Amino acid sequence: MQFLLFLLGTIVGSFLCLIADRLPKHQSILYPGSHCTFCGQPLRPQELIPVLSIILQDFRCAHCQHKLSLRYLFCEVFTGCLFVLFLPELSWKNGWLLFWLLSSYVLAMIDYDTFLVEGRILIFSGCSLIIGALFLGWPLHWTYPLIMIAGFYLLQKLLPNSMGSGDLWIIALWSLFLQIDELLIVLIIASGSGILFYALQRLREKVLVEIPFVPFLFFALLVLLLLKKA
Ligand SMILES: [Zn+2]
Repeated sequence: MQFLLFLLGTIVGSFLCLIADRLPKHQSILYPGSHCTFCGQPLRPQELIPVLSIILQDFRCAHCQHKLSLRYLFCEVFTGCLFVLFLPELSWKNGWLLFWLLSSYVLAMIDYDTFLVEGRILIFSGCSLIIGALFLGWPLHWTYPLIMIAGFYLLQKLLPNSMGSGDLWIIALWSLFLQIDELLIVLIIASGSGILFYALQRLREKVLVEIPFVPFLFFALLVLLLLKKA
């Protein structure tokens, strides 16, 4: 059962990578089918096996031999692990939590690539999560987003441009579903890991003009949800 879940997760992970690749370029996520982004050749069935294909092809396109990013393999394995961890049994609650993580993961990948919070994913996932939470009968903290927005404008006064407004909308959305202490944990872990990343990059003498914050928010959410599960 766990192996099947992992397998399903790797297939979904492959699709999440495709979404993260195509949406910022305003390409359809359904058409055309999977193809090499370098030579445009459609992928044959044997090139579409999650995890295995990319390893057997030595991380190269089978047609043009262009090097393929490790990210595809990581994304498939990571999503497979999320399926195993967060779907110990099939329930609406577990499905909801997994959807929260996966949609945030796509937002994180796109922010990492483009420094932008993808509005269509945010709106789609936000509406789905709110409807799902109402369906599950969970109390939503409607005042927290307002507090977050007020806090954001205060932060902008003190430290201008320290946080993008896209990040604010993600935090405001998440605050609907979190207790205040959980929200604080997410903000502390995200800021702490972001600062650590910045410091490490400075030590490696890399010049950073901007840091994508959503990957750190996603990391913090994952840590919080894992802690809650433990
Ligand atoms: Zn190719």
